[in-house]
Amino acid sequence: ERARLDRLRHTPAVTLDGEVVELLANIEMPGDAPSALDAGAVGVGLFRSEFLFMNRGGDLPGEEEQFEAYRAAVEALQGLPVTIRTVDVGADKPLERMSQQELRHEHGLNPALGLRAIRWSLSEPGMFRQQLRAILRAGAFGKVRILVPMVAQMSEVRLIFEALARARQQLDDAGRAYGPVEVGAMIEVPAAALLVERFLRHFDFVSLGTNDLIQYTLAIDRADEAVAHLYDPWHPAVLQLIARTIACARQSGRGVSVCGEMAGDPAFTELLLAMGLRSFSMHPARIASIKQRVLRVDTRRLAAHLEEVLASDAPQAALTQLQAGSWPH
Ligand code: PEP
Ligand code: MG
Repeated sequence: ERARLDRLRHTPAVTLDGEVVELLANIEMPGDAPSALDAGAVGVGLFRSEFLFMNRGGDLPGEEEQFEAYRAAVEALQGLPVTIRTVDVGADKPLERMSQQELRHEHGLNPALGLRAIRWSLSEPGMFRQQLRAILRAGAFGKVRILVPMVAQMSEVRLIFEALARARQQLDDAGRAYGPVEVGAMIEVPAAALLVERFLRHFDFVSLGTNDLIQYTLAIDRADEAVAHLYDPWHPAVLQLIARTIACARQSGRGVSVCGEMAGDPAFTELLLAMGLRSFSMHPARIASIKQRVLRVDTRRLAAHLEEVLASDAPQAALTQLQAGSWPH
């Protein structure tokens, strides 16, 4: 068994019809980087940087501390790409110092719809530039990409690129080395999925945050157990938004990946491949089983039936039926 897993780790993820699939790891701390490599990941598709900011009282990491953490992850990945997401705090990941947010929470407002992720970063421009400088500097040590969470407005896109330009200028002025980094947006709000063509005039790539996309499309709070049974990744509206995002990104020749839980769920692998997805980012422990699934898929098989599945009121049942049908296994 051990030898088999070892072989699997070094087997490239290629489908039966020869499509190369990129399997990336989601990490929370630089210390997780070795487990990503052990699992056979070909890079990090999501480094949730907010974990550097949480559980430390009122104190937040400065530029140097962040730079060291990002550099550690980049060096550990030995030349493989590392996608660093700017802080995604708020909602289910509050900072100790977000007293205002907690106050609102007590008053019954929904923090998932409040000041979180890029909204928080843009409300703290000094902090945002500090993080951007730390990431840009880590880019001098390997292949680094910046990923911005929860973008929903074109005005945010403009502010993000202005902040980046200023961060680079500040590094130039200080004579600090930094690397070229690609900049991507998370697509996790329906507004962003509907405007992805416009976003892609500015961003180099997009990554689908299906956890939040489901929450915001269905108006189901991820943290509210009373409505957990309605949180449905198979909802036709969710699948449509995902399919359109992947199709648009491919049409504009830009990279697209999925970094939500769906990427690590083998029940969705064939469907996402049929939609044209070739990049999946997941918890390192999920990589082996997703790879085994990829190795057995012929992407052309379901592609012919994709519209049928998407148009169905019960896409999961439709897919299961197609998969159990006359296809070779
Ligand atoms: C997502 O929303 O799918 C995602 C990857 O981000 P997080 O789970 O960290 O909110
Ligand atoms: Mg998210």
